[in-house]
Amino acid sequence: MRLAGQDSRKLLTKLRDTLAEDGDGQERLDHITQLVSKSMGTQVCSIYLRRDRQTLELCATQGLKKASVHQTRMRYGEGLVGRVAQEAIPINAEDATKEKGFRYMPETGEERYSSLLGVPIQRLGEVLGVLVVQSRKKRKFTDDEVYALEIVAMLIAEMKELGAFVGAGEAMTAPHQRALMFQGASAQEGSAQGTVLLHDPQIVIANPVADNPKAEKKRLSKAMDQLRISINDLLKANKASAANDEQRDVMEAYRMFANSKGWMKRLRASIDSGLAAEVAVEKEQSATRARMARVPDPYLRERLHDLDDLSNRLLRQLTGQGRQAGDAIPENAVLVARNIGPGELLEYGKSLKGIVLEQGSVGSHAAIIARAWAIPMVIHAKRITVDALNGDAILVDGDQGIAHLRPDESITAAYSEKMAMATQAKERYATIKDKPALTKDGVRFELLMNAGLMVDLPSLKSSGAEGVGLFRTELQFLIRNKMPMRDELAGLYEHVFDAADGKPVTFRTLDIGSDKVLPYFRPEEEPNPAMGWRAIRVGLERKAVMRMQLQALLRASKGRPMRIMFPFVAQFEEFQQAKAMLNKVYKNEKRLGHRVPSELKVGAMLETPSLAFAPNQFFEMTDFISIGGNDLKQFFFAADRENERVRSRYDTLNVSFLTFLELICKRCFDLGTPVSFCGEDAGKPLEALCFAAMGLRTISMRPSSIGPVKNMLRGINLAEARKVIDAARVSGDQSVRKTMQAWLDQQS
Ligand code: PEP
Ligand code: MG
Repeated sequence: MRLAGQDSRKLLTKLRDTLAEDGDGQERLDHITQLVSKSMGTQVCSIYLRRDRQTLELCATQGLKKASVHQTRMRYGEGLVGRVAQEAIPINAEDATKEKGFRYMPETGEERYSSLLGVPIQRLGEVLGVLVVQSRKKRKFTDDEVYALEIVAMLIAEMKELGAFVGAGEAMTAPHQRALMFQGASAQEGSAQGTVLLHDPQIVIANPVADNPKAEKKRLSKAMDQLRISINDLLKANKASAANDEQRDVMEAYRMFANSKGWMKRLRASIDSGLAAEVAVEKEQSATRARMARVPDPYLRERLHDLDDLSNRLLRQLTGQGRQAGDAIPENAVLVARNIGPGELLEYGKSLKGIVLEQGSVGSHAAIIARAWAIPMVIHAKRITVDALNGDAILVDGDQGIAHLRPDESITAAYSEKMAMATQAKERYATIKDKPALTKDGVRFELLMNAGLMVDLPSLKSSGAEGVGLFRTELQFLIRNKMPMRDELAGLYEHVFDAADGKPVTFRTLDIGSDKVLPYFRPEEEPNPAMGWRAIRVGLERKAVMRMQLQALLRASKGRPMRIMFPFVAQFEEFQQAKAMLNKVYKNEKRLGHRVPSELKVGAMLETPSLAFAPNQFFEMTDFISIGGNDLKQFFFAADRENERVRSRYDTLNVSFLTFLELICKRCFDLGTPVSFCGEDAGKPLEALCFAAMGLRTISMRPSSIGPVKNMLRGINLAEARKVIDAARVSGDQSVRKTMQAWLDQQS
């Protein structure tokens, strides 16, 4: 039997009416199976829905034994139905028993049927179930019939999303309504309660069936035209700004797809079959995603990815949903994303309550920003972007690396208690804010904070930091879409000086490259950007930018004392060259009559092991050294800080790393060079304790860590800690963590 566009439309309209009728989810599903088997002229129609990530459950059937409903289950990949789910492609078998993977299920009584057609019920590439028709007579279903069944499956997917089948059993719940827990990893401690804000939101379609295909096609054409205009505009803008070739390639690919006749034809055909324009786009998108998963060629996969992205744009255009640039952030927003770069995170701003990522790493700059802002952050929450919808309730447990999506009352109550306790701890830290970081045996520490944005500056007062040990100047560059001008920068830096109110601030010159990519200054593609052309290496070659920044810094001082340091110095000569540049700019500023700093200290960041072994003259020439533990650790262990899988293998409290830190401290003491530590680990009390035992006395950390670290230092005897750590270092243990944690626990 052949289902022409009009028949298919009639069927869809009937199905929609069924769904609109009163009744429970089971009745609706039953009714669908009756209607489909009747209109397709088959003896059987069954709907299998996903029960969990690996299991399908028979939820309704016309033709198979009723007793097997909600009893028959299969795993993805098991039998023909399981294969449809796993591979997300239709199976059209004239003789099902001969088909690869056929599994006989006696409880359903299906042996009487020879032919089978199964199509995935999927939404945006996610398989939610399988729709199957079977016939007694041997037959191959026509392409039109396959297509018609796919259209029905599409409708079922949309209705499931809307909760139309909620009723008997887990498998029938709407995918986005149940409570879910995601166990990931912690990137910033703390708990937060809020609502989901998806970085790339899913579209909700209220009416998947369209009665008027003509009007629907008009809507599609209009959205398409709009899309083409915006792509052309983007292309033009990119040409004007001489964006790199790769970006242009992507845009050209977009243009090609947007003009692709085949794509348009398929979209129109789906509309003719009765689907709303949005659902037609989703149908194509699902097919693209399924194809994407199967294509081994990375280039082709990228192009399919472009098409996927284009579909998203078209959906946003059609529905008006999704975030537009400049939209305000809703209250209590918890950002949920696959991954996010530092620039994008900065755009969202500090008002986010929490961040949950599917990927990400503790060492990434996005995580560093989240920590600077003390925003609880969970990474590696697998598939959360599929399960979360904008506006869903969410709880972020940054201590344990857990996110609770749509949590039930008992969980919410438990967290309220936890959050109250955190508030109490904060109050305790506030009482020691103005007290010195002095250990019980009288060792005095200098606790500084890391900063980079204007919004960080009020923390200088509220945290009790004695100054800014690391001001990451590149963050100001990352939040802009064009290179800031010298005067604008000078104004910003002056503001930092003013806000510091006499407390020392160490400005680090631009550290771009690696994951800190400026949209208007893309370094070349390179295989290992973290070890590539970044930081001082860029500064020494792109002299104009560095000179401009140095001028802005010197001018901002207005005669006040100033500290400048260069990032990622790997050898003495780089420091000499950078310092020579600074001296030249300094002399020129003076000559031009600008007020120069009353005192200028120039330091280097020690972020590569090589610098620890630099000649003595390097240590004598630098006014201070700041250990950038994030980079130093990644190069010491050869473990990418962005790659959680390898990063987490190596403990910062590994005996080798601590001994290396001790060696650096010793060289600095022997040669009279002040040394500090400014990597992220300094903000953890246990790590800070071990660094202190290795000889560090100045540490710079995120503002929210100053209270906990000071509280720890005031409660310990450092000489005693040193004895314990020394014993642990020779015990043969790989890390001192266990021993030192146990010791620290005894102190309070
Ligand atoms: C570091 O590497 O430890 C550091 C402080 O610099 P960044 O994290 O900005 O690379
Ligand atoms: Mg660094």
